Amino acid sequence: MKYIVVTGGVVSGLGKGVTISSIGRMLKNCGLKTTSIKIDPYLNTDAGTMSPFEHGEVFVLDDGGEVDLDLGNYERFLSVRLSRDHNITTGKVYQEVILKERRGDYLGKTVQVVPHITDEIQDWIERVAVTPVDGSGCCPDVCLVEVGGTVGDIESMVFLEALRQFQFRVGQENMCLVHVSLVPVLGSVGEQKTKPTQHGVRELRSVGLHPDVICCRSADMLEESTRRKISIFCHVPATHVLTVHDVSNIYHVPLKLVEQNLHNMLKEQLKLPIHEPDMKEWTMLAQKVDTSTMPISIAVVGKYTGLQDSYLSVIKSLKHSAIAVGRDLVIEWVEASNLEAESKEETPERYADAWDVISRVDGIVIPGGFGNRGVEGKIECASWARTHNKPLLGICLGFQCMVIEYCRSVLGLKDANSTEFNEATEHPAVIFMPEISKEAMGGTMRLGARSTILSARANGETSTVSRLYGNADSVLERHRHRYEVNPEMVADIEAAGLEFVGRDDSGKRMEIAELPSSVHPYYVGTQYHPEFLSRPLEPSPPFLGLVLAACNELDAYLASKVSSNAAL
Ligand code: GLN
Repeated sequence: MKYIVVTGGVVSGLGKGVTISSIGRMLKNCGLKTTSIKIDPYLNTDAGTMSPFEHGEVFVLDDGGEVDLDLGNYERFLSVRLSRDHNITTGKVYQEVILKERRGDYLGKTVQVVPHITDEIQDWIERVAVTPVDGSGCCPDVCLVEVGGTVGDIESMVFLEALRQFQFRVGQENMCLVHVSLVPVLGSVGEQKTKPTQHGVRELRSVGLHPDVICCRSADMLEESTRRKISIFCHVPATHVLTVHDVSNIYHVPLKLVEQNLHNMLKEQLKLPIHEPDMKEWTMLAQKVDTSTMPISIAVVGKYTGLQDSYLSVIKSLKHSAIAVGRDLVIEWVEASNLEAESKEETPERYADAWDVISRVDGIVIPGGFGNRGVEGKIECASWARTHNKPLLGICLGFQCMVIEYCRSVLGLKDANSTEFNEATEHPAVIFMPEISKEAMGGTMRLGARSTILSARANGETSTVSRLYGNADSVLERHRHRYEVNPEMVADIEAAGLEFVGRDDSGKRMEIAELPSSVHPYYVGTQYHPEFLSRPLEPSPPFLGLVLAACNELDAYLASKVSSNAAL
């Protein structure tokens, strides 16, 4: 196993995740099986209980792991499926060591940070690195290890110490250290500043780690003089100081790394059995994004719109779909509470602006969420989309809002609600799932990959969603919820026209709702989160359906799918 460890200096949010994903993609295209591990030096055992406002989206894996959003970047770029163990946190490591101590595994020894915690970290990395992640069942060749935070943080010290020891455990020829740094530009003359990088590398050195490659994040290309300066002061050959400057879209990053010969540097240092990377498909992808200029606007109606990272996978899924249809995605952010009647009274301008956006966009997404705030706005929005033929995709809470809206407007059950928002409602359209714990918060939802059985519509036709999934009988998508559609109300809802065309394997849990295409161009809700499995070259079908409908191209697409299937 070969390891590429990536650290970051100066500030967080440098794009370390994109850089490391791009290195992985480059190596994958050189013929290697790649995997990745993210180290988060915080005490939470996982990201599940963290506020999206502070940390961005909680990404969900097949095994139900609730992890840092960087694992989403890895999965999308490397086309892999990771597990909860691919996200190591301080909390998990300590928990493991304390568990062993209680079991008596340390045979009476004093349990210490060095060597017990540091050994645990190294064992963990070695154990997880070899797990197959690409569906082939084979062990990966290269494991990328990202150390979260910045070098010099107290929190990450123990991980850096573990990695210092790790170079000896696995051997120098099996581990390479890439440091991602920031090269800011100051003043009107625009001089690229190298000091922050020098300081970052000095910090690394002080803990016994030496970078083999430095990736410099900067607005513009690194100047030759800057490269030389970094090379001299940081004791890294100039060829190994790479420019990772801002580019028109992130798909260019792996291409830029190949241009600078990073694959051959890694080949030489790690003795990798690789061929020249085949970047044809990837180049086309990057170019297609640049040349797709006709806009398509999609509103995202949420409650965490202040931090767009909270909806990272939703944004990515919309982008993947827009790329597939050759459009330039324009996301319009709408704070759901601004759509509510109360806002009309209190903040009339915001109310007017929010509704203005809804009325002029080409399509709408109501993503997942928790808690009361903004829910009535989402329900209003679903109602408007339904009655104005506006393509809408509701995800998780968005799906639940669509069902509540239908009960209220079409079934006439005015107080229909989710018991999450009104426990006393007479018409609980969405209820708490029986097997879920009300007391413990961490890891207690219905989480991870579960299958959804797709069924025909009431009139025997194949549902739009099933056609989008290539007429599949069932799909495996990821979940994260505590509430579900009340099974007792399903018959009434369906009789009134909103059809549940996907259910779990017991048949009792509603997974997908849609209005027939004769009634609405695209009105689809999913209890699961399709955004977690969308890939740049394989957009998630429900998102693709939304974007196609927003472009008015859904019917033509589905018809062409039928004829291509017939041809097969
Ligand atoms: N709050 C809802 C539930 O727990 C929806 C969750 C979500 O959107 N992820 O079921």
